[in-house]
Amino acid sequence: MRSTDVVVIGSGFGGLSAAKQLAKSKVPTTLISATPEHLFQPLLYQVATGVLDAEEIAPPIAEVLSGYDTVDVVEGYVSALDAQAQVVTYETAAGTEQIGYKKLIVAAGAAQGYFGHDDWADRTFSLKSLDDAVTLRAHLYDCVQAPLNDEAAHTFVVVGGGATGVEIAGQIRELHDRFFTDVPATVYLVEGAGDLLPVYGGRLSAFAREKLEASGIEVLTNAFVTEIGGDVVTVSGADGERQIRSRTVVWSAGVQATPLAGVIAEATGCETDRAGRLLINPDLTVGGRADVFAIGDMTSLRGYPGQSPVAMQQGRHAADMIRGKTVTGTAFHYLDKGSMAVVNRHNAVVDAPLGIKLTGFLGWLTWLGVHLFYLVGFRNRVAAVVSWFRSFAGSKRPGFDEVGAARTGAETEAVEVRDTIADQAPGRAAAATREQEQSVS
Ligand SMILES: Cc1cc2nc3c(=O)[nH]c(=O)nc-3n(C[C@H](O)[C@H](O)[C@H](O)COP(=O)(O)OP(=O)(O)OC[C@H]3O[C@@H](n4cnc5c(N)ncnc54)[C@H](O)[C@@H]3O)c2cc1C
Repeated sequence: MRSTDVVVIGSGFGGLSAAKQLAKSKVPTTLISATPEHLFQPLLYQVATGVLDAEEIAPPIAEVLSGYDTVDVVEGYVSALDAQAQVVTYETAAGTEQIGYKKLIVAAGAAQGYFGHDDWADRTFSLKSLDDAVTLRAHLYDCVQAPLNDEAAHTFVVVGGGATGVEIAGQIRELHDRFFTDVPATVYLVEGAGDLLPVYGGRLSAFAREKLEASGIEVLTNAFVTEIGGDVVTVSGADGERQIRSRTVVWSAGVQATPLAGVIAEATGCETDRAGRLLINPDLTVGGRADVFAIGDMTSLRGYPGQSPVAMQQGRHAADMIRGKTVTGTAFHYLDKGSMAVVNRHNAVVDAPLGIKLTGFLGWLTWLGVHLFYLVGFRNRVAAVVSWFRSFAGSKRPGFDEVGAARTGAETEAVEVRDTIADQAPGRAAAATREQEQSVS
């Protein structure tokens, strides 16, 4: 059995920042991930609505870390942990493998949560993975092709008025206003709280609502989806129940930890919260183990938000303790640099430190700059700038060119891309199989 100093699980924001930080001290590290890419999740909604191409937000993790000699990248789905023996078990195309470690950092992220209605996963679209975004994009294309009197095809319900819900609802509306201009669309945004973007509140929430409503989106707050059956979505609110005929429900209302959180909890004796997230110690260690760290969306600590800066800062903190730059056992404290969400073209809200709040075009420019800065890889940044220019200055949607071309060959691009990914990504295929098995059992 192979062994290394540090095993990092996950190629998202947390795993990547931990691996890069460990490389600064040339700590031998193996990063294992179920997916072959580093996915920039905040821009998934732009892939789904054709603004960006999938590869612009998902560079291969092996390529991103190719300049880091002490980091080895392995594609595999981690299925078991023996914390006593310090051994991780993972599935690859070649079969089950194991690797020993001295320290382990787990950053396996979160999945969509359905508040006890797990069957809704099959009836809704989510935006967690690249496959999700490509699948939704192909579906939106199909809706546009449907007869104009097919009400369900031209009605879209977005559930969850947080940043992702606001962004995807705004873009679906804009898609029809600026690109598929001869096709009607009715867009609903359903939020259980009293306002959109509840964590922002006040002026920023009000701005988002005002802009979305002005664009024609019907915003339903204090409202909950209570049933999704066939082409009908039932929404209950203060003014009673309403039924909406729609074939497109985009779910962005809840999260739950990925299955690996349960495996780690069992192996280390760590408690979990209602969403299955690990209740980690202040120094990011798990349960009674000083050699196992968990970070990012799969964890819960002091109510920190499930956002990329938390995962990145935690990744660096854990790595710094391992490489001796920070004293072992030091509590992690999140440095909040602010949050932002796009409402629609040229409109964003920014909640920055020192009480700075930006809206409108200034907020949008700030959003653009920050996302360019954090997008991984120079080539991706250039490609994104070109796509943004075509979409926001012009009225093109580069992503739909591909879908349209693929559709002339009858098979959906989503299916093609999924098959290609499954072929090239043994870890992802193993993950899909395992999740299928879990949902059956
Ligand atoms: C649509 C959307 C929009 C968002 N917008 C914003 C935003 O605007 N601003 C912001 O700050 N944050 C945003 N977020 C949140 C942000 O993306 C997350 O907080 C961040 O990705 C968390 O990083 P992570 O490393 O914990 O997990 P992830 O980035 O999700 O990475 C998890 C990794 O673990 C791997 N993995 C999972 N299970 C296994 C396993 N068993 N074995 C091996 N590998 C495994 C996955 O393949 C993946 O590589 C958004 C999220 C979504 C979904």
